[in-house]
Amino acid sequence: MHIIHLASELAPVAKVGGLGDVIHGLSKEVARQGHLVEIILPKYDTLRHDLLKNLKVFYRELWSYEGPYRYNNTIWSCEVDGLTVYLIEPHHPNYFFNRGMVYGSADDIDRFLYFSRAAMEFLYKSGKSPDVLHVHDWPTAIAPLLLKDMYLSLGMKKFKTVLTLHNMEHQGRCSLRNLNQIGLNGDKYFTPDLLQDVQNPHFLNLLKGGIEYADFITTVSPSYEKEIKTDQGGHGLSTFLIKHQKKLKGILNGIDEDVWNPEKDPHLASTFPAHPPFSEDKIRIIDEKKAENKKKLRELLSLPENDGPLVACISRLVPQKSPELMAHAFEYSIQKGAQCIILGSADTNEIREVFSSLQKKYKGKGAIVLDYNEALSHLIYAAADLFVVPSLFEPCGLTQLIALRYGTIPLVRSTGGLKDTVFDEKTSPRPLQERNGFSFERLEKKDLESALNRALGLYKNNYKKWLELRTHGMEKDFSWKKAAQEYLNIYNLKT
Ligand code: ADP
Repeated sequence: MHIIHLASELAPVAKVGGLGDVIHGLSKEVARQGHLVEIILPKYDTLRHDLLKNLKVFYRELWSYEGPYRYNNTIWSCEVDGLTVYLIEPHHPNYFFNRGMVYGSADDIDRFLYFSRAAMEFLYKSGKSPDVLHVHDWPTAIAPLLLKDMYLSLGMKKFKTVLTLHNMEHQGRCSLRNLNQIGLNGDKYFTPDLLQDVQNPHFLNLLKGGIEYADFITTVSPSYEKEIKTDQGGHGLSTFLIKHQKKLKGILNGIDEDVWNPEKDPHLASTFPAHPPFSEDKIRIIDEKKAENKKKLRELLSLPENDGPLVACISRLVPQKSPELMAHAFEYSIQKGAQCIILGSADTNEIREVFSSLQKKYKGKGAIVLDYNEALSHLIYAAADLFVVPSLFEPCGLTQLIALRYGTIPLVRSTGGLKDTVFDEKTSPRPLQERNGFSFERLEKKDLESALNRALGLYKNNYKKWLELRTHGMEKDFSWKKAAQEYLNIYNLKT
């Protein structure tokens, strides 16, 4: 089978968050199972050029359209971790992808609509005829519509389209003019059945268009699939999703076990075993090696030795991730004698100031690194004992899965994919050997404190049970194998 992903991110060359990890991990596993997988991406100036192999011009003079104008594009091909990637470089006066960023420009809508249209033009002109075009979130959600309403009538061969909803918060609200710019008749789509936005009927909604026009829709965990069909989780699209629920399925993400592998991770001070069965000897070795990583991390962040557990958070510091609860976990665990480290990327001064002043207050007791630092993240996953994810909502969440693989017990708010992967040591109805962490229900400081108290108490008073919990987490297979099979089942469905 031939699958083409049209995407705005790809780890590790253009990663902002989990979306980039998913495209990379899923593509690799599907390719490993013998299928042809290709990825089309914008040629951002921020791409990790050191990781692009065999970069060369693949197609020159690809003319694409914007309003009354035609612009030339160069299509590059390269390999990323063995995957074939095509990079679209527009020769456009607005330098769409030379902004030093993936998202965050005032004209993001124009940038990604232009990209989607140029990508479809590339498929058309180069004669590529995949079995499946897989698009992701609002930036590429217009492609199924472009196929059905524009390219099929130009003679393009029909293929299946799949839209994955990674996060319903961002939907690509735009104006009529935006659709007209890429050669569509915006008026035609300005109806409640099609792209008219539900919350603000003066706008069109690109994600809604993807939901309407894609043959199949997936989202990234079974619980998130349920949540997005509710008022709160659907961000205005719950009713529309219920209408389309027959073609909607929640598939839990995996993690890339080559990238996230404590046995070979080059960023660790000491690697350690991560594959079952876990004998008593292996469990002891893991404990020793994690302690060596902890020592290295403390040196790096100028933190003293400490008998209590090391608590960690790694996250974007945005409202979805409840930064105020993260800050509370930091203070509370330090007050209770633990050490806490937060690695967080902040994009507002306000949030930077909150965390900087917290860092000053607890200097020498905890560390807050306001940065996006992949290498440091690996060492933190390996060194920490407890990993806190207090999200407001979490479509799947990868950090808790990585933490589990690195023997770091997750403590999470029970929502979305966190609910599907972390099972409380005490309250979960699951069998004991499946329980692997701590969870709390309400977004309340008191509830977080109570879960933290249970975790810190278990570490201090019953380390044997702590190790059992850690081992349960490490035993579970969160690789892409199962998820890739579920995606292949969808790719194989008849339209
Ligand atoms: P989201 O996609 O909403 O950001 P996920 O949990 O799905 O959240 O994925 C987050 C990914 O980004 C993980 O691989 C995590 O390790 C990584 N990450 C998040 N923040 C940082 C940071 N500040 N530095 C390094 N890696 C980070």
